[in-house]
Amino acid sequence: MEINKHYFDTIIIGSGLAGCRAAIECIENGTVGVLSKLYPTRSHSTAAQGGIGAALGNEEEDSPEWHTYDTVKGSDFLGDQDAIEIMCYDAIPTIIELEHMGVPFSRTVEGKIAQRRFGGHTRDFGKAPVRRACYSADRTGHAVLFALYEQCQLRGVRFFQEFQVIDIVIENQAIQGVIAINIKDGSIHVFEAKIVIIASGGYGKIFKVTSNAYASTGECLSMLFRQGLPLEDMEFFQFHPTGLYGLGILITEGARGEGGILINGKGERFMERYAPTIKDLAPRDMVSRAILSEIREGRGIDGQDYVYLDLRHVDKKILHERLPEITTFCKIYMGIDPSEAPIPVVPTAHYAMGGIPTDIDGRVLRDVDGSFVQGLFAAGECACVSVHGANRLGCNSLLDTVVFGRRAGKAASSILKSSTKGKVKKERLALIIECLEMLKNNKGKETVASIRKELQQAMMDKCSVFRTEEELKLLVDEIKTLKERYKEIEITDKSKTFNTDLLEAIELGHMLTLAEVIASSALQRTESRGAHYREDYPKRDDENWMKHTLAFQTEKGITFKYKPVKITRFKPEERKY
Ligand SMILES: Cc1cc2nc3c(=O)[nH]c(=O)nc-3n(C[C@H](O)[C@H](O)[C@H](O)COP(=O)(O)OP(=O)(O)OC[C@H]3O[C@@H](n4cnc5c(N)ncnc54)[C@H](O)[C@@H]3O)c2cc1C
Repeated sequence: MEINKHYFDTIIIGSGLAGCRAAIECIENGTVGVLSKLYPTRSHSTAAQGGIGAALGNEEEDSPEWHTYDTVKGSDFLGDQDAIEIMCYDAIPTIIELEHMGVPFSRTVEGKIAQRRFGGHTRDFGKAPVRRACYSADRTGHAVLFALYEQCQLRGVRFFQEFQVIDIVIENQAIQGVIAINIKDGSIHVFEAKIVIIASGGYGKIFKVTSNAYASTGECLSMLFRQGLPLEDMEFFQFHPTGLYGLGILITEGARGEGGILINGKGERFMERYAPTIKDLAPRDMVSRAILSEIREGRGIDGQDYVYLDLRHVDKKILHERLPEITTFCKIYMGIDPSEAPIPVVPTAHYAMGGIPTDIDGRVLRDVDGSFVQGLFAAGECACVSVHGANRLGCNSLLDTVVFGRRAGKAASSILKSSTKGKVKKERLALIIECLEMLKNNKGKETVASIRKELQQAMMDKCSVFRTEEELKLLVDEIKTLKERYKEIEITDKSKTFNTDLLEAIELGHMLTLAEVIASSALQRTESRGAHYREDYPKRDDENWMKHTLAFQTEKGITFKYKPVKITRFKPEERKY
């Protein structure tokens, strides 16, 4: 088989916000290749709607200190406060920089960057909601990604679009490069590099109902895990309160930021009971639980399993100017005009708080002792710095990708000179090709689609907003059975061109690995914190669980270690809103 070889000083996996922002730094000191299994601007970042947080104070008084406090409290005190402080203080220059790079932010009448309310963002340490999210109508991710992509093009970053990474090569605790398939013709490419930055995004596709794109399958995390590296805080997966009923497509929190309210089957604005101060703008974990509690107690709309997001009282001009995308979604997918009818919504799997453990400069950690893999970095949703702890606040993820994408790029750039060129050994490549051929030629009675469907359903039923020991145990067993059945899959497409059957089979293998880590980590954590709610342990337990989970693959199966949370200013307190 003909192998195509490439060398770049830095290879970046992923062309979302984190990948593009990192690339802009790295190109200053060397060559950069960005690999993306999608067309670059189709990365999930482009789907981000509502906003990017920064305490600019353009519309009302605000401060980065309040932003820090809100993020710490929103994280249910599991976020590392040193990293959170960096993010919230860096937010302000970051937005200015994005503006200078060409992001068309929406404006106030005076011409300043406009800001709106978002869940969990408050003024004066929780007193009332504050306008902190900068936005470009409800197409913020799209606006930012196109600007960053353009900047990459200007600077000579090389993009390999529709190249799917199938191996991240680490030898002797140092990165060597990556192996990828060119989706278009099935050819194999080896990329050797001094530095690899993983910016591969989230993995919401593990759940049945999700706001995430089809490509959000998380294989890069699993590739590291299978090589003995840890994954951090995987039990924390965020469900966004307002997914379109039956579809999971997101209706941005910006809709509530602009005045939208949630109502139950009795017509009550039920969030008044759960979060009397900030009501519908409480953090997502709380609102998702509130919606599902209403439904469980029979107060869904007409007793069914959804509630309404009501925007009828919001000025039509605001809907038109600031929420055009979701207005269109409602019309296309539900046949509803939100200015005339309420929108049926239910929580949807949305965001991975857990991921590849890194330090504040994106270095990938090998263990709880702070040791790292030479030359390997991670940033964006795939990484766990951890700024989001047990629950991410809305509009903090776009911020995280840009702030830590830049930091990872800077740190990577600074060690470029002293780093040695990676080498992907022939044996490693041969092994990968052999695995690929085996998968392609495997005979069996199972299909990728049926196993994936069962996995997604099982994760939805047993590991979503509410969890119990009994169900999590059943889930772990179910995943183990699915892993066995995976060995029996048969791929019908034998061609080389756009063989999505084969690529999806690879992704599914990794999804099964990640699902087992998520379920097992959730089983271990016998408390409720942020998005991880254990009905059998409904209280937060700081004495025993104020710590990050690190899951490792060993010969004995998944094992766990824990590392302390970094607390600087804000001592854990009861989380009231
Ligand atoms: C519908 C929706 C709305 C959102 N709205 C907001 C919002 O308003 N504000 C906010 O702060 N956050 C929002 N978020 C969250 C935020 O958009 C994401 O967390 C963030 O954009 C992730 O960016 P990223 O750069 O880490 O990854 P992504 O943008 O997901 O990019 C991942 C990249 O990795 C590549 N990749 C993955 N695996 C491979 C592989 N094996 N080989 C090659 N390439 C690979 C993909 O091709 C892609 O280029 C939203 C998320 C969703 C789903």
